[in-house]
Formats: sequence, C-alpha cells, structure tokens
Amino acid sequence: MTKQIIFIIILLLTLGVFAYTVTKIVLLFKLTKPFPIRDFPKRFLLMLKVAIGQTKIFRFPLVGFAHALVFWGFCVVGFGSLEMVFDGILNVEKSFAFMGWFYDFMMAAGDIFALLVGISIVAFLIRRLVMHISRFKGIEMKKISKIDANLALTAILFLMITLMGMNIYYVILHPENLVGVYPVSNFITSNFISIHSINGHTAHFWLEFFWWSHIVTIFIFANALPYSKHFHVFMSIPNVFLSRLEPLGKLENMESVTKEVKLMMDPNAAFAAPASGEAEPIARFGVKDIEDITWKNYFDSLSCTECGRCTSVCPANITGKKLSPRKIMMDTRARMKEKGPQLVQQGKDFSDEKSLVRNYISEEELWACTTCNACAQECPVNINHPSLIVDMRRFLFMEESAAPGELNAMFTNVENNGAPWQYPPQDRMKWATEASIPVPVMADVFASGKKPEYLVWIGSAGAYDDRYKKVSRDFVKILNHLEIDYAVLGEEEIDTGDAARRAGNEMLYQMQTLQIIEILKGYEVSKIITCCPHDYNTFKNEYSDNDAHYEVLHHSQFLQKLIKDGKIRISTDMFSSKRVTFHDPCYLGRGNNEYDAPRTVLKTIPCKTIEMKRNKSFALCCGAGGGQMFKEAEKGNKEVFLERIEDAIEAKADIIATACPFCMVMMTDGIKYKNMEDTMKNYDIAEMVSMGLGL
Ligand code: SF4
Ligand code: SF4
Repeated sequence: MTKQIIFIIILLLTLGVFAYTVTKIVLLFKLTKPFPIRDFPKRFLLMLKVAIGQTKIFRFPLVGFAHALVFWGFCVVGFGSLEMVFDGILNVEKSFAFMGWFYDFMMAAGDIFALLVGISIVAFLIRRLVMHISRFKGIEMKKISKIDANLALTAILFLMITLMGMNIYYVILHPENLVGVYPVSNFITSNFISIHSINGHTAHFWLEFFWWSHIVTIFIFANALPYSKHFHVFMSIPNVFLSRLEPLGKLENMESVTKEVKLMMDPNAAFAAPASGEAEPIARFGVKDIEDITWKNYFDSLSCTECGRCTSVCPANITGKKLSPRKIMMDTRARMKEKGPQLVQQGKDFSDEKSLVRNYISEEELWACTTCNACAQECPVNINHPSLIVDMRRFLFMEESAAPGELNAMFTNVENNGAPWQYPPQDRMKWATEASIPVPVMADVFASGKKPEYLVWIGSAGAYDDRYKKVSRDFVKILNHLEIDYAVLGEEEIDTGDAARRAGNEMLYQMQTLQIIEILKGYEVSKIITCCPHDYNTFKNEYSDNDAHYEVLHHSQFLQKLIKDGKIRISTDMFSSKRVTFHDPCYLGRGNNEYDAPRTVLKTIPCKTIEMKRNKSFALCCGAGGGQMFKEAEKGNKEVFLERIEDAIEAKADIIATACPFCMVMMTDGIKYKNMEDTMKNYDIAEMVSMGLGL
C-alpha cells in the first residue's frame, strides 16, 4: 500500500511537470506561421518506412544497425515500462500477463533487447569518447552538446542495466512460476549466478531496487528530455509523419509574392478592393527571425538529434565553408529558446535587437548553400534544411536587397534580357543557326497549322553557354535523325528563373513563371523535354503551384524511352576502351529520384561504366546549384567541383558523363584545374549518343 501511494505521488508529479513543459512548448509553437499538412495515409506509410523501419539510418549499414537496434529496443522495452506504471498504480505484479503469448513474446524481446541496446550504447560511448568521429565535431558542437549526448547515453545504459537487473532477480525469485519469458536473464542466472547462495530477502531487495531505479530514471529522463537535444526521442517519429511528401527538388510557392506579381502584371486587378473591404497587413517576405518560421520549421529543430549526418555530406561544409545544416537547426532551436518566452510574455512587438539571421546564422553561411539536398536526403528524421535556408535568402534579398553583387547582376540580366548573362534575346537561336542545324521554331510550326508533340526547352545555358550549345545541337540532331515531332520556342524562350528563385528572388521567379505559362498556353504545350535538370524540376514540380501542368521529361528519360522503344542502337567502338562514370546532377538524382535513366543511356553505348565512390543519392554536388554558378564561392579550403573531380580521378575515369549544363561547366573547370584535359573528358550523355550514332 505504501509503495502504491509513493508511486502514485511520483507519477502525478512527473505528469504535472511534463504537462507544464508541454504547455510552455505549445505557446512557442503558437508564435510560428501556419504550414499545411495533407495526405495522411501517405504520411502513415512514410512513417512506417522511415521512422519505424529506420530505412535512412541503414544507408550507412554498420552504425545504422546499432542505431536501429537502440530504436527498436526502446519501442519493445517501452511495453515493459508501461506495464510497470500499471503495476505501480494497481500495486500488482505483471499486470499485462493476461495478454498470453503476446506478453511472453514482448517480455522475451525486451530481455534480449536490453542486452543488445546496452552493448550498442557502450559502443556509442566508446565512439564518442575515444574515437573522435568527425561528424560529432563542428563550431555548433559546444561542450554542452557533447555532455548532453554523453549523459543521455549513460542514462539509457543505466536503464538497460536496471532492466536486466530487474529481470534477473525476478527469475531468481520465481524459479518455478515465472510469468513471461526471459531468455537472457535465464541464461545468466543458470550459468553465472549461484541462485542458492541468494536468500529470498536479498533477492527481493534487489528486485525492488532495480524496479524503482528503472521507473524513476524513466520519469526523470522523460522530464529532462524537452530541455535537451534528446527531445527528439518524442519528436522524431511525428516529425517523419509530418515531413514533406514532395520531391526534394521542389520549393514551395510564396503565395504573397505570387499575388503581388499577378497584381503587377494585371493593372486592373491592382486597383480592385480586397474582398473583405480591408487592406491585408503586409507580411514580411522570407524568414528573418523566429516569428517568421513555420511551426514545421520549429518542429524540425526540436526533432534534430544533432547526429551531424547532414553536415557530414554537405558539399559546402566538406570544402571548409562555414555552412553546417545541423547548425541551422540548432540555431533555430536556440533562438526560439531565447526569444520565444519573451514574445509569449511581452507580446509580438517584443524586440531584443537581435535576429536569427545575422546574430545566429550569418549571411556567409546562407549564401554558401548549393541547395543540393544532400542534407535533407541524409537526415534520419526527414528535416528539410534547404527550404529554410532559401526562406532566409528570400528575406535577405526581398526585404534588404542584401544578395551578393554577382547575384544582383544575374537578377538584372534575367529581368532585362530573359537570360542570366548579358546576351540579347535575338541571339537565343544562334546555337542552332551558327551550325546551320535545322530546328523547328514553335511560332512557325504553329503558323503552319501544326501542333508539335513536344516542346524542347533549350534553357539559357543551352542557348548561350559555349560548351553547352554543343549539347543542345547534339540533342536536336538525335531528334531530327529519329524524326521526332518537336519544336523550340526560339527567341520567345526566357529563363525559368530557377537560379534566381533559389537565390531568394522569388519575385523574379514568379514574373518569369507567369510569362512562360502564358506563352506555353498560347501554343497549347502539354509535353516538355529539357536537357537541364533545374528546368526539368521547375516545370515538373513547381509549375503546378501556378496551376500549370505538363508532362515533363529530362533528356535522359526521353533517350531512355527511345532506347526502350528500340529506336536507338549504338554499335560504335569509339568509347569501348574508356572507363565512363556518371556524375548525378542533384536536381535529377536527389531532387527527383532519377538515377536509372542516364545509366540506361550509358549502358547502350559500348564502354566500361564505373561508379564513383559517392554516387546516386550519395553523389556529391558539382557546386553550381542554388545560384552558386553565378557567384564566387564563399571562403573555404577547396572548391566543391575539385572535391568532385577527385572522386572521378580516384575512380580512374577516362570520361565523366553528365546530364546538366551546370555540372558540365563545373566538371570541365575541374578537369582543366587538374591539368587533365588530355586524359579525362567530360561529355553530356546526349553528346555520347549523338557521337555513337555518327551524327
Ligand atoms: S542543400 Fe547541400 S549545400 Fe545546402 S546545406 Fe544542404 S547539403 Fe549543404
Ligand atoms: S538535421 Fe537531421 S541529419 Fe542533421 S544533425 Fe539534425 S537529425 Fe542529424
């Protein structure tokens, strides 16, 4: 009875403190912006796969297995902990035993997992304390973060020891009438403990000692978690459930900007009164501080385990730049912890003259991101860092015009010339006319009363970049050779504004988008092929937000289709002695999960295909995405493209095959920089097919 009363008092205290903490956290969530969540069945499946199945953790199998063991162990052991709570409240022993075989199974699993989790935790502690793993280091990893992590691991180890102690003394006390199955404890008591030397009182004392130690540690741990990085124990499964379902390449529309651009483009609408009769308050563009983030951004930050998987694959961080995606999450959490309670107490006008951008996250960090999505791909709890980084860039550019000078020049060019460089629109077809290649132009085809099946989107690099013009030519040569029904927009084509968007200029992107949609509408375009993965991603994933829907194919997918249809057969031996490796463009691979199409194309060409050590979803970015192509890289110890070229050199590749204009520029630069122009070549897959066909 006394035990029962003491237990209930401790339980009520635990629940009371926990409820108080949760209430405080809910108030912080109320400071944030809305974020819509739809499609619950899909989310449930995602949660089963990523959170329960631990699929992302297994991307690195050895460490992943130990982590998964701990996670699954926690789930199984949690059953026993819940039973202990009921046992304590009801003052009984084994209150869940009525579940029969399921109970036996869970007890056996808990007994085995206690040992396995204990061993894994000892290994993790040795790794952290002795092995100095680089992913646990970084400017954001202060001493307190390390102490926090080690304390939590020690607490988990203590929980496993007390659980095993409890099971062992339960087995000792009930040699004849065991409830449940305890294989590990049985093995230990039969082989290592002389049961007869332990009297009933002693065994009972130790059983009670381990029982109380275990349950009180759980109660303290549960209440300490929300104040430490280990809050992710509660947050990570729901965070996976709430994570993005869209392809990683997609950026969300800023509706406020779309509305403004529509008003700019339609003067009549600009003078129309708002439906409510009241002018809406002007919201801040992008994220400056904690009250600008969405509740999902805050949820992400609370779910971050500080594992550093994101930072360990970040091309900017790998090459010595200040950016660390883990720091972005930790800073977001820390800023909310600092400013949030003040906003709650003093109202939304409270200011401490500080902000998340600049006081916590510097401009230098933000402009170093290539939006390659390697961080989001790797994060075991599905945090999406690039979208928050772009939101902060949106603030810097749209609210403060604080983009790097080279990006401003690129914006001006896109706005004035429809291309990121200073080339006039009249030169858009020179890539074809200079080489006297016949290319059907949409306006002419349409004027003749025909409607081509495909619009081939050449893109700004395909039209103006000297190296990539050759790819445009080779691709249309293949189309002409196979008599594909296509046309290009010619001088009517303008830049999609993808790079401008990722550099924070949402306004310019929306202007380009709305103009392009009108042009495509005029020609009743329904199918688009493009050689540029960035434009592919934009048309495929982002135009639907402006209610424009097309069937979009990257040229690798179109070539794959032609190969599957038996229309392309290559028998040349010009590459047969070459070792060819494919560099995955981020916006084709991670951004849109397309890894097979370019590899299928390469397989039809007689050559020796090889993989670099970082390939497919693990591939390293070329360093040009997210607007980097148009600006100097931030200070670091290496250029990203050099790090990537070294992968190709290590793989002993003779040819780096690419399928993106940005990757083409960077790989070509890398080869030049390494003085390997005589021994290593860089071709787009369309060039290799065209050469293979002898065109
Ligand atoms: S998107 Fe790429 S460059 Fe940007 S933070 Fe993530 S990993 Fe780093
Ligand atoms: S953001 Fe994700 S990958 Fe990065 S440290 Fe946090 S949990 Fe790990």
